[in-house]
Amino acid sequence: MTDPLIEIRGVHKRYGAINAVDGIDLDIAPGELFGLIGHNGAGKTTLFKMMLGLLPVTSGEIRIGGQAVRGEAFRQVRRSIGYLPESLALYDNLTGLETLHFFARLKGADRSTCPALLEQVGLAGAADQRVRNYSKGMRQRLGFAQALLGSPRLLFLDEPTNGLDPQGILEFYRQLAELRQGGVTVVLTSHILAEIQQRVDRLALMRNGRIQALGTVAALRAGQDLPLTLRVAFRPDGEAALRQTLDELAIAPLAASASELRFTCPRQRKMAVLAALAGLGPAVTDIDVHEPSLEDIFLGYAEEMAP
Ligand code: ATP
Repeated sequence: MTDPLIEIRGVHKRYGAINAVDGIDLDIAPGELFGLIGHNGAGKTTLFKMMLGLLPVTSGEIRIGGQAVRGEAFRQVRRSIGYLPESLALYDNLTGLETLHFFARLKGADRSTCPALLEQVGLAGAADQRVRNYSKGMRQRLGFAQALLGSPRLLFLDEPTNGLDPQGILEFYRQLAELRQGGVTVVLTSHILAEIQQRVDRLALMRNGRIQALGTVAALRAGQDLPLTLRVAFRPDGEAALRQTLDELAIAPLAASASELRFTCPRQRKMAVLAALAGLGPAVTDIDVHEPSLEDIFLGYAEEMAP
């Protein structure tokens, strides 16, 4: 196995009596697209800031590229990291291009790359407009362009799709996929579970400063073993046969209409149930198998954690 790019060992962050981060161990591999999911206050931003060296850890250690996140040596590593904070402070009087020039100077990045970056995030037409007149989504895109300055090999993006419209969200993830193809490692946070579940390689569910569950979406699903939901459409003359088959399978429908039945079934029985339904021939006109969503999984884990 390749060495992890990010190693987090026994990390805590306390603010008085509050354990904002309460003992996290996590490895993130080079080239991974990693999602950190959790409700407000779960500790995502605090963990991010500690990974960037912006906040000291109370205890534990974080290493990036083998280098501890502190001191002069980390400054070099820090140059290869891009960061989109949850709320980026922008000067309303500057234009988009001036803003990017400003961040390029701060970062020691080549300012000649700024117009192309604005183009990349879809802001070329607004480069000379003052940021005052930017919408929330445009500000977010400008923040993303800022994070991309200097072609970072590692990106930390805190709630990157905040304020983006659906088209903007699609475009954003398309660009992330491209960056990943180029070997860039991406860690992003979100509280919109459904949005990232198909898009990350692995994710961690954070709650009360701890990682409650960690893995690929498929592994988290399997670990939670939540039932599948099936929706079966039938011909009017096929309803009786369908109900009898379900009865024989000891399955009680959750809901029914004139042409559809909905019920849940344990994952292990999926193929047996599908075979029985297929045996009904033309009486059944359609079957839709719905996997539990990340929300279902998240709630499942949350319930496990509840006192
Ligand atoms: P959000 O999406 O709302 O930013 P989050 O998951 O990023 O949520 P954090 O901002 O990391 O959560 O906060 C974790 C906990 O630590 C919260 O209870 C928060 O109130 C607390 N906290 C964060 N920063 C401070 C601080 N500077 N002083 C005291 N408490 C803090």
